[in-house]
Amino acid sequence: MNTASRYDKLFEPVPIGPVRAPNRFYQVPHCSGMGFGMPRTLAAMRAVKAEGGWGVVNTEYCSIHPTSDDTPNPHASLWDEGDLSNLALLAEQVHEHGSLAGVQLWHGGSSTSNLASRMAPLGVDSLPVGRDTVQSKKMTKRDIRALRQWQVDAARRAMRAGFDIIYVYATHDYLLHQFLSPDYNTRRDEYGGSLENRVRLVREMIEDTRDAVGHKCAVAVRFSADSGTSPDGCLADDEHRDMIAMLADLPDLWNVNIRDYNREMGSSRFYQEAALESYVSYVKQVTGKPVVGVGRFTSPDTMLRMVEQGVLDLIGAARPSIADPFLPEKIRTGRVDEIRECIGCNVCYASDYKGVPIRCTQNPTIGEEWRRGWHPENVPPRESDQPVLIVGAGPAGLEAALVLGKRGYPVILADGADGPGGRLNLECRLPGLSEYARVRDYRVGRLASMANVDLYMNNYLTPEDILETGYPRVIVATGSRWRTNGMGRYFSRPLAGYEGANLVGPDDLMRDVDVDGRVVLFDDEHNYMGTVLAELLARKGCSVTYVTTEAKAGAWSELTQEQERAQRGLLEMGVEIVTCHAVTAVDAEYATLSCIYTGRTRTVPVDAFVPVTSREPDDRLYLSLRSDEAALERAGIHKLLRIGDCHNPGIIAAAVHAGHRAGREIDSPERELPDYRRDRVVIGETADY
Ligand code: ADP
Ligand code: SF4
Repeated sequence: MNTASRYDKLFEPVPIGPVRAPNRFYQVPHCSGMGFGMPRTLAAMRAVKAEGGWGVVNTEYCSIHPTSDDTPNPHASLWDEGDLSNLALLAEQVHEHGSLAGVQLWHGGSSTSNLASRMAPLGVDSLPVGRDTVQSKKMTKRDIRALRQWQVDAARRAMRAGFDIIYVYATHDYLLHQFLSPDYNTRRDEYGGSLENRVRLVREMIEDTRDAVGHKCAVAVRFSADSGTSPDGCLADDEHRDMIAMLADLPDLWNVNIRDYNREMGSSRFYQEAALESYVSYVKQVTGKPVVGVGRFTSPDTMLRMVEQGVLDLIGAARPSIADPFLPEKIRTGRVDEIRECIGCNVCYASDYKGVPIRCTQNPTIGEEWRRGWHPENVPPRESDQPVLIVGAGPAGLEAALVLGKRGYPVILADGADGPGGRLNLECRLPGLSEYARVRDYRVGRLASMANVDLYMNNYLTPEDILETGYPRVIVATGSRWRTNGMGRYFSRPLAGYEGANLVGPDDLMRDVDVDGRVVLFDDEHNYMGTVLAELLARKGCSVTYVTTEAKAGAWSELTQEQERAQRGLLEMGVEIVTCHAVTAVDAEYATLSCIYTGRTRTVPVDAFVPVTSREPDDRLYLSLRSDEAALERAGIHKLLRIGDCHNPGIIAAAVHAGHRAGREIDSPERELPDYRRDRVVIGETADY
């Protein structure tokens, strides 16, 4: 059996109520950071997934009424005819590729503050909303009747917009979940108390939606398979089992998740593929309707196992479909080794949290489909035969080489190290970060098949070497090094106070420099590096004091759903966590910690000190070349770019994006204005901006 036919089962059509999914690849609803404000950007992003073979493509959470307004987090909406018209574009573009379009109708209840609409949040009871200073209104029966009508109205709009699958969204702590859960629901009427009463509203919403659109559209329910009482899987007496059994065949499709969002959206640092299996595997036994679930599936063998063992009917994916919109197509055509596997870094999630269009470490084209016209698989052909020299084979250099190689340019990729990967080679050896190697391995694998790209490792290049090569175009991607002088967010210039310390920089630590005894780690960077290195030190047996200027360990990693697990893990390993302090001085024996509010200091004994504050761009090569334009001209170098961390250090996703852009735009003049279309309303214009 060849690779493609081995996975035939994944390509069987699946009937879902009155519609039929063309295969088992199901892009579950996921945030995009675009919401109702960027309809063209959104439609193009979803359409590429349909083109890549996802048989069903869903929207993100789509509000049914202004009482469910999550601003400033971008979300879809179906409040009126304008929303209908904008979302119709998405449905139409998804249909063009033969896929089904689904819409996740949603009411946030007392999870949304309604900051833009300024309407009162609604709740099963009156509760504080998020971190805002507002409480929800306890819903009356009249409010419940209104809610049901909003769902019906939105469902009808969705049907008219062309959607095939309409959701009732009953999980993730939003309104319907609040009715289901005894943690929230204290009502004494027919919507509270017994299981049957708490399930009543969800039942009514399913029935209402079916009455409204069920002759034409499938009705899906998103529901938690467990109530969150066990960390290892769904318990036999979990009441969510009973709830699903009570509603068993009422919807056309069960889209199941779990209560613990940290696991469901788990980063690869803590959770591997198929992490939800033990929670959701019973669902197919209690319903005859198709079941879809997620598990950051990137392996076709795992997907096949899910179907063959009766765990799932449809392979749900958000992140794997973001990292590789063409994953299904690559399996279908026997190109499994070309799959760009998600690394589980959750940068995609962080961008939505920040309210900006989605980005991805592995897929630099996501979010750029409409505004820059980028496609995840296709690049424009080369415009000349001029070769390109790339210096530095980190994420930026590798991606630039990949794009240029695909375009057909002759490319030399040189690096002073003994293997490609740059920072990835160090980071993927840290606790929990092994999947980061996929960023390197995918690109190195693809480059190996390109006769026009040559890799020269152990080739440290000086400016003189480069001038001698005679390559007309040079891309410098030489990366950055962690600073050890304290410079970062808190200290904006180098600090003299660390000079007497036994300093161990993050780069040294990642290169296995010996450290033992009492170690103070100062995290002023706030992403994963500080907490990961603290974990590494604790595993080595060091007695670790982790100091941060923030109020939490690895505060930025809250955006990637890692913070809570990281801090808990450190505490469980005996790491002392000191928050809201800076390390102002360190000598051979003591570190001085200073409160960021009062300036009060205290000292702790120290054998080694690890500052994780910021990185120094390694721009020496670029600046040296740039400093002599006449020499560049004599050498025939007419294009000199620097990209990635040597330009401005950032997350890996930023370096990959910079590499991709350089590869696509090598022939373009450098511009000062944004070189992309902006998805916005222009008064008095009908042009396609
Ligand atoms: P980025 O994230 O921007 O891709 P990295 O730090 O991951 O940057 O990678 C930079 C790479 O550049 C490293 O592998 C490093 O060995 C290489 N490098 C730096 N300077 C030179 C040089 N002068 N010649 C060749 N390779 C270099
Ligand atoms: Fe996966 Fe990271 Fe891309 Fe998200 S950003 S899809 S977690 S690789």
